[in-house]
Amino acid sequence: MRMTDREPKSGEARGAADHGPRVGKTGPAAHPGTIVRTISERWPLEPAQAERPDATARRWRYVDGAGEIGVVASVTQPFCGGCSRARLSAEGRLYTCLFAARGHDLRAPLRLGASDEELLENLRSIWTRRTDRYSELRTAETASLPKVEMSYIGG
Ligand code: SF4
Repeated sequence: MRMTDREPKSGEARGAADHGPRVGKTGPAAHPGTIVRTISERWPLEPAQAERPDATARRWRYVDGAGEIGVVASVTQPFCGGCSRARLSAEGRLYTCLFAARGHDLRAPLRLGASDEELLENLRSIWTRRTDRYSELRTAETASLPKVEMSYIGG
């Protein structure tokens, strides 16, 4: 089971994978330590190893071996620095952040006959120059910025 540090309201739910709703539309975030402590008081937990270095959820397992939980704390502990969330739209635009306002056109070079190496270099160049850190900057102002819809980039 995965939990986020803030509960989306109706109409803005986008799932844990997008690491929580946008600021300014919901109540205060619950610190992940509070979430884990509350559960652990009833069912003791211990830290579990991350699935991957860029995993969104921090994991804990039940000491009795009954399973594990994950907490996605994008509001209280943003993780943009280790992010690897690229998304490719059906139109061939690459988004380097789930909250990006625009994507990079990969379709045009593909249609113009770019080689695999050229496409790879294009991708590398886009990714290494990215400066996305929406969750780290999340403020009342960022809530009103234009963003790609999750349905457009496939979740
Ligand atoms: S860079 Fe964007 S997609 Fe990645 S963690 Fe930050 S807000 Fe999320």
